[in-house]
Amino acid sequence: MTDRKILLDDYLPPSHDIEEVALEFDLHPNKTRVRSRIVFKRARGGDLRLDGKELTLISARIDGQPIEVNPDKEGITLRADDLPERFVWEAEVEIDPGSNTSLEGLYISNGMYCTQCEAEGFRKITYYPDRPDVMAPFSVRISGDEPVMLSNGNPVARGKGWVEWQDPWPKPSYLFALVAGDLLAHSDRFTTASGRDVELNIYVRKPDIDKCAYAMDSLKRSMKWDEEEYGREYDLDLFNIVAVDDFNMGAMENKGLNIFNSSLVLASPQTATDQNYEGIESVIAHEYFHNWTGNRVTCRDWFQLCLKEGLTVFRDQSFGMDMREPNVNRIKDVMVLRAAQFPEDAGPLAHPPRPNAYVEINNFYTATVYEKGAEVVGMLRRLVGPAQYRAALDLYFDRHDGQACTIEDWLQVFEDATGRDLSQFKLWYTSAGTPELGVAEAWDGKGSYTLTLNQKTPPTPDEAEKAPRLIPVAVGLLYPDGSEAVETRVLELTKPVESFR
Ligand SMILES: [Zn+2]
Repeated sequence: MTDRKILLDDYLPPSHDIEEVALEFDLHPNKTRVRSRIVFKRARGGDLRLDGKELTLISARIDGQPIEVNPDKEGITLRADDLPERFVWEAEVEIDPGSNTSLEGLYISNGMYCTQCEAEGFRKITYYPDRPDVMAPFSVRISGDEPVMLSNGNPVARGKGWVEWQDPWPKPSYLFALVAGDLLAHSDRFTTASGRDVELNIYVRKPDIDKCAYAMDSLKRSMKWDEEEYGREYDLDLFNIVAVDDFNMGAMENKGLNIFNSSLVLASPQTATDQNYEGIESVIAHEYFHNWTGNRVTCRDWFQLCLKEGLTVFRDQSFGMDMREPNVNRIKDVMVLRAAQFPEDAGPLAHPPRPNAYVEINNFYTATVYEKGAEVVGMLRRLVGPAQYRAALDLYFDRHDGQACTIEDWLQVFEDATGRDLSQFKLWYTSAGTPELGVAEAWDGKGSYTLTLNQKTPPTPDEAEKAPRLIPVAVGLLYPDGSEAVETRVLELTKPVESFR
């Protein structure tokens, strides 16, 4: 068997859009039933591919009529000729969360039902076009014996043994979440800038209920910071966090229902170190910030992962600098970059923040996508300045709210907000490798200072010759007593060698 390589250049928009999704779960440790009702509408057209893995199909209908389908190992193809312009797909499947050890899809961790759908886990829950550029509002009904049963959005109805959730914001399937189990909530409230009252809950197991205070405090500070620095308010009546023992991803930004590995939520003064607290603050902020950079504006495909991750890491780093000692935090972030990303960029696994081919997307959650992706956003901010950066971000949210976007869309808002041409800057996203910057100074003793900068990027396995990057270099001049002679300005190195007088 050879693994199929997926190429950025092969991207095709979805054949069908989804107007709405209704899911019903009958929870059972080994025989969970999932009924889906999905309203499809023809978009580009062509056959409709529904991804599905390790599902037992019980029944399927189109517009209420039972149909015969023959799933292959990875899903179902519905032929274009058999599909009306707009139709309702209904399916019932059975899944086995108790035996799901992949920690993708719906699984049981220590007696608790839990999901992980990024990147391609939703296809283990039901048949669906499991790709981020298909966004839809979801409603979810969960039936079972569990005392707490959560999903995305707001709770809209409940009775004995069931609860219904509605998420009004269109989202891709990778942001779907369900949690059910014997959990307790550490609760609080937050009032947004425009006066929306939001209930906040951190759900944990009973013995951990006294260890949530710092995570809650971090959450409230994150919500406030995002309003002040980015003008981004929270958009549901409820924000839930769940701490889970078995969780691969560290933490996950599912809409309105973030799921965390317990170690990134729980802390008590008796056992936690300063480093633990800092880690909790940073990860809580990161996942919360995804509500706008990732969820409201998402990625068109997984090649664009750094669109949400690079930007959100940059945002959580900026938050950390504002909460703590900025220079110390910056040094720590650079140390992480140098320790984790520089070797990656110098080795056989070198890849650009936006790769153009992958076999398994789970292998691309890398330091390059996250940490270098964040540095590139920071460079962009350095290049255009804080005011124009904010203007570009405002435009990004205005223009792309509810959309699945690309790095091109991201750079376009900067071009439109600033009038700059960023085609050379784009190389940071599309070409791997760590440039080496050389600096030579000359002072003629009469009042003329010349700074000569040169750059060279060593080859990477995918690219022998590297074009020069646009590198912003902030420079200031000081007198021997430390006072400022020339205030800091940003030089733009665009060629292999350039002198600035
Ligand atoms: Zn993230």
